[in-house]
Amino acid sequence: WLRGSGSSVSFNDARGVIINTPSNDSIRDYLYHYTSEAHLAGTPSDKAQAEWTRDKFIEFGISDTKIETYWPLLNYPKYRRVAIVSGPEKFRYEAKLREDHIDEDKTSKGQDDVPTFHGYSAAGNVTGPIVYVNYGRLSDFQELADAGVDFTGTIALVRYGGVFRGLKVKAAQDFGCVGTLIYSDPIDDGPLNKDETSNPAESYPDGPWRSPSSVQRGSVQFLSLLAGDPLTPGYAAKENVTRLPINETISIPKIPSLPISWEDALPLLKALDGHGPKSKADWRGGLTEVGYYVGPSEVEVNLVNDIENKITPIWNVIGKIEGTAEKDRAIILGNHRDAWVFGAVDPSSGSSAMLELARTFGVLLKKGWRPRRSIIFASWDAEEYGLVGSTEWVEDHAEWLSKEGVVYINVDTAVSGPHFSAAASPSLNQLVYDIAGQVIDPKTNNTIYEEWSHSTFVGGEDMAMAEASKPQIGVLGSGSDFVGFLDYLGISSVNLAFGGDYGVYHSNYDSFHWMEKFGDPEFNYHRALVQIWGLMALHLADDIVLPLSPADYAVEIQGYVKALNNYGFPLTFDKLESAASVLQQISTDFEARVNKLRQKVNDKLESKGSLSSKMEKRVKKMNDRLAKFERGLLDPQGIKGRTWFKHTVYAPGLWTGYSGQTFPSIAEAIDAGDLSLIEETETRAAKYVNEAGRWLEGTYDEVRD
Ligand code: GLU
Ligand code: CA
Ligand code: ZN
Ligand code: ZN
Repeated sequence: WLRGSGSSVSFNDARGVIINTPSNDSIRDYLYHYTSEAHLAGTPSDKAQAEWTRDKFIEFGISDTKIETYWPLLNYPKYRRVAIVSGPEKFRYEAKLREDHIDEDKTSKGQDDVPTFHGYSAAGNVTGPIVYVNYGRLSDFQELADAGVDFTGTIALVRYGGVFRGLKVKAAQDFGCVGTLIYSDPIDDGPLNKDETSNPAESYPDGPWRSPSSVQRGSVQFLSLLAGDPLTPGYAAKENVTRLPINETISIPKIPSLPISWEDALPLLKALDGHGPKSKADWRGGLTEVGYYVGPSEVEVNLVNDIENKITPIWNVIGKIEGTAEKDRAIILGNHRDAWVFGAVDPSSGSSAMLELARTFGVLLKKGWRPRRSIIFASWDAEEYGLVGSTEWVEDHAEWLSKEGVVYINVDTAVSGPHFSAAASPSLNQLVYDIAGQVIDPKTNNTIYEEWSHSTFVGGEDMAMAEASKPQIGVLGSGSDFVGFLDYLGISSVNLAFGGDYGVYHSNYDSFHWMEKFGDPEFNYHRALVQIWGLMALHLADDIVLPLSPADYAVEIQGYVKALNNYGFPLTFDKLESAASVLQQISTDFEARVNKLRQKVNDKLESKGSLSSKMEKRVKKMNDRLAKFERGLLDPQGIKGRTWFKHTVYAPGLWTGYSGQTFPSIAEAIDAGDLSLIEETETRAAKYVNEAGRWLEGTYDEVRD
C-alpha cells in the first residue's frame, strides 16, 4: 500500500490511529444521544440532531462543515383507522394501531411516539372486502388473478417480506385494489423466524424479535421508479423551484395503505377463514389459529389514512476535509440520520459510527495528517421517505460530483448483530476483502474476513469449494443512500454492515435498550465497523494509485451477461458478450500498467521520498481513469419507464426494489417478451460497456457525441 504526499504522518501511523482511536464508550454515548428522542425527518428533533452533528464535526476539527437544506414533499399522519365494519357481529373489530409500552424499555414509553404509518402513502377513506395476497409480490397477485380472483374494490392484506413495501402497494393498485394493509407475520421477523440465532427465539423484550403489537413503519414510495423527492425528479428540491403537482409523479401510490401488527391482522385473517380457497403451504405464515384463506372476505374493512402532505425543510450535514495533491477528487462517506422513531439500529448505529469516524479523522488532522484526496462526511436526512436527502444533494451537485467523486461509502444500519456483509461496485471487491482481513472480529479474534467466509458458507456441503471461494459481495439494489451516487451518477459505491437477529425494524422498539440487550451490548461491532470504514476511507483517500480494479468489474459483467442467457429465452447476446470480453481485455491490460506504475511509485518513494512532477502527472491520469471508468456505464437515456436510473449494469429490481437487477433494461425487455426491445437494449448496453473501456484507454472524450 502506498501513502499520500503532503502529510507529516506516515501511512502506518495513520493506520494505527484509525485502528486504535475508535472507542466503544464514545460510540455508546453518541448512540444514547441519537436515540434519546424520536427523530423523524423534517421534525424539530431531527433539526436539533442535525445541528448537534454539525457542531460535533466542527468540535472534532472538521471546520468546513455546514447544513445543506432542501424542501421535499413529506407526509405526516393525522388520523388512521382499520376496522371490520360489516358482516357477522362476532367479527367486528377496531384495530389498535399502536405499539405497547414496555416497562424495561424507557423510550418505548414515550407519549409522543411516531404513529404507525407509511411514508408517502396516499390519503383515503375506503371500505371493501379483504383479499389475502401473501407477500404482495407481483407474482402473488398474478397467481390469484390467474385463478380468477377479481381484486376490484378490495383491500389487499399482505405480509411484510420478500420485496420492498411500496411495490406491494403498487401491485395492489395495478390490480384494482382500493387499499393495502401490510402486516408483520411472526414467521418472518417474529419469534418463529427460523434463522440461525444465539438469541432466544422470543419477542422483544425477551428476545430480539418482533412482538405482537409491533409495527413496521416505512416508505411506500415506488422506489424502483424514482429516488428522492417525488415532485422534483432529476433536479434538487430547493426552496423556490417549480414542482410537479402531486398527482403527476410516478413514484408514490394513489391508493391508501397502512402498516399493522400481527395482533391487528389476526381478526382480519379470522374473518377470512372459510372464504375463497385456503392458501397453499408456502403462503401461510405463523399464526396457527387461522388458515390464511385468500377470500374475498364476507366482512368489509374500513381503512382510513388521513395525512398531511407538505413541502418541508430537511437538513443534510456536510463536512469536508480538503485533500492535498488530488484535492479535486472526493471520497464521500455517508449515513442517514433520520429515523422512523428512535432508530437505534436503523440508522443511529451508523450515525454514531460515522461520528466516531469523524472524531478519529479529527485526531489524525490534529497530528498534522492531510489526505491526498478530499474526504466528505455526509449525514443525510429523509432517507426513510425515499433516499431524499442524499438524492437531492446528488442532483444539486451532479456536475462537480461526476467530475470529482471517486467512491461513495454508505453505512446505513451499522450493526444489528455480528455478521459482516458488503455490497459493492465490483471494482471495490478486492479492497473490501483486504480491509476485512485487517480488522479483528471482537468475539473470536479471527479476522472479520475469516468470520465472513465461514458465515457465508454455513450449511454449504462442499467445504473444499467454500475454502477456495471468497465470501459473497452483494449487488447494490436500493433501499439506502448509495442509489443517487451509483445509479444516477455512476460513482463506484459500497455499502457496509454487520447484521443479525433483527426483529424491531422501523418500530418503537428499535431502541438503545434493544441494542444493549441484543444487538451489540459491548459496542464491539460498532467499533469494528468504524475501523473498517476508516481504513477503507484512508486507502481510498491516501493511496497514491487508487485501489480500484476495473478488471474485477469486467469479470462480474461477463457473469451477468451469461446470466441473461439463462433467462429462459432462447437468445444469444453476441454483441454484449463481445463488448464484455473486449472490456475484460482492456481492463486486464490497463491493470497491468497500473500495477507497474504502483511499483515505480513505490520505488521512487523509497529512493527519493517524493514523486517527480512527471510521475505525479502520470499518477493523476491513471487515477482519473480508475475513478471515472464506471461513468462509462451510464446510459444518458436511462431505463425505459424509469429514466432517472442511468446505470446500464445495475438498477433496483423493478418489482423487488431492495435487490439489484443486473442489465436491467435487457432483463425488462426479456420479461416483456419484446424482441425488438431486447435487441435495442442489448445494443445500447454493449455501447456503454464499450465506453467504460474507452475511459480506461483515455479515448472517451473523443467518442462522446
Ligand atoms: N431504507 C428505507 C426503507 O427501506 C427507504 C427506502 C426507500 O424508500 O427508498 O424503508
Ligand atoms: Ca429532486
Ligand atoms: Zn436506514
Ligand atoms: Zn429504515
